[in-house]
Amino acid sequence: MSHTVVKHTGSHYLVSPLPLWEPVPCVVRGKIRLKGSATTNPIAVGDKVEVTDGVITVVHQRKNYIIRKSSNLSRQEHIIAANLDGAFLIVTMVLPETRWEFVDRFLMTCEAYKIPVVIVLNKIDIQRKLAPKVIARFKEVYEGAGYPVWETSALTGEGVDRLRKAICNQSNAPVRGGRVSLFSGISGVGKSSLINALGCDLTLRTGVLSDYHLKGKHTTTFYEMFPVADGFVIDSPGIKGFGLVEVGKEEVYHFFPELFKAAINCRFNPCTHTHEPDCAVMDGLNKGIISPERYDSYVKILEEENGKYR
Ligand code: GDP
Ligand code: ZN
Repeated sequence: MSHTVVKHTGSHYLVSPLPLWEPVPCVVRGKIRLKGSATTNPIAVGDKVEVTDGVITVVHQRKNYIIRKSSNLSRQEHIIAANLDGAFLIVTMVLPETRWEFVDRFLMTCEAYKIPVVIVLNKIDIQRKLAPKVIARFKEVYEGAGYPVWETSALTGEGVDRLRKAICNQSNAPVRGGRVSLFSGISGVGKSSLINALGCDLTLRTGVLSDYHLKGKHTTTFYEMFPVADGFVIDSPGIKGFGLVEVGKEEVYHFFPELFKAAINCRFNPCTHTHEPDCAVMDGLNKGIISPERYDSYVKILEEENGKYR
């Protein structure tokens, strides 16, 4: 029977036949082959699997996935979540400050895997008072780049209904009510508070189910999915950064939509958009069509990619 992995703790998994929420424990024996793929990556939350007698026998090909940034030394991918219908990046400009480069790296990952993303500016109640100029600029830059920026407050409830509707919206989901979204953002931006404000029944979280075999183990650092309204949310606690595999430096600009769009008119191809004559990206930057904030992130990521090949 087809199931979705909703929690992963070491060698144990919880799976549920989404959109039904009936998590049951199961295990994997030995190495499992991913259907249609040569890799033997560990199974991730969101993976679609076949289960026979409590054993995962088949992992279906992923339509997309997000990986955690890995150290330069290890080439290993750490898959955070698979088969996402959408992502919500929760940010705050103050208390705590989300670095814009972090936002850009997250957006780049979503672009690479074609995951629709909404930026959620939370704690808007205090952001407006403490950092009005910064939030105005933030909205200008990211809306200008083509991303929706929504304002919410878990405290006052502002914008929460809109968020709930988007979580349930089935436009991209294969099954009615089966939409799976990633909730991401640095620690302290209000992810848990928002999830509570959305009316998530926390007793449905697998962490508090009586998964007896997990007792005494650390379960907090693992990713899990849980029902929110009519959809499902994967919480990703304590993320420091995202990594991208299989992206060469000459391709980085492909994942900055506004740079990609401008680059059609560059004189040279390939163009790094850093020093070439008649570069349409640098032209856009000079004309204020491309923001210096986004462009700086692009250059930083590019330099990092350069470093990899030294
Ligand atoms: P998480 O680490 O992203 O899950 O963040 P939490 O949900 O634990 O929230 C961190 C702190 O911010 C808590 O003290 C919350 O009460 C507070 N907080 C969360 N959302 C809001 C908000 O919309 N407005 C204000 N003023 N505080 C908030
Ligand atoms: Zn160029």
